[in-house]
Amino acid sequence: MFGVVPKVLWSRGQDVDGENRILLATRTLIAQHLPTGRIVLVDTGTGSKWSDDDAARYGIESRAEAIDEALSKVGADAGSVTDVIVTHLHFDHCGGMSEWSSGAGGKTRLRFGNAQHWIHRQHYDHAHAPTLRDRASFLRVDFAALDGNDLVRFLEGDEPACDIPGLGFELSHGHTPYQLIPVFDVGDGRELIFVGDMAPTGAHILPAWVMAYDLYPLRTVEERLRLHQRCGERDTMIAFPHDLQCGIVRLDVSGKKPTVGEVLLP
Ligand SMILES: [Zn+2]
Repeated sequence: MFGVVPKVLWSRGQDVDGENRILLATRTLIAQHLPTGRIVLVDTGTGSKWSDDDAARYGIESRAEAIDEALSKVGADAGSVTDVIVTHLHFDHCGGMSEWSSGAGGKTRLRFGNAQHWIHRQHYDHAHAPTLRDRASFLRVDFAALDGNDLVRFLEGDEPACDIPGLGFELSHGHTPYQLIPVFDVGDGRELIFVGDMAPTGAHILPAWVMAYDLYPLRTVEERLRLHQRCGERDTMIAFPHDLQCGIVRLDVSGKKPTVGEVLLP
């Protein structure tokens, strides 16, 4: 998770197990557009199609009902989700969008069966022809249900746009090509950015703390510097996908090094 950063630095404040693993969340952001009733999910976690052996390797503890429980808090359920934003197709971000249609190991179907599924076309193409270095992160079983499906909405080009009110996108290429970074206009001049694996946790806001997973680490550094600049110019809230303690924060970019400032949602 920390690439070339020495363990003596990154392990401060982290619980590291005997297998050199740390605890991470796989978060789903739920956004509701009250005037239209649209309910938008950003990413869906690892899902629950894992065999016991595969789950044990990563120490995955998945709860199939976690997203449903969160949806019920806003009076919604899986069938009332209108839109799923797929930032990228790594298994820890999209596994939960599909489930076995009958038995384990058979066919899959989309779990949010009434929702449009938004993904960048060039990322989708990359996921079907990954490099030797990143192919272990793409599990076909997670996204096979998208293939030829009427619910897929491909975003195109370098300035992708969709018809969801108040939602725009930035693109990030450092971690994986054409990762979607959703930007929500939440009113009163404020915005909320789900930064995806461009900055998976609060520790990763330091520009050079780049994951070994990233295909293009120098692009990640540039993208984080642009994010810091943006946070200095606007009222920006950041949602992290993998931070266990911090769901939504403001960054403090006033000092020499950016830090996590106010935690708005643990
Ligand atoms: Zn990823």
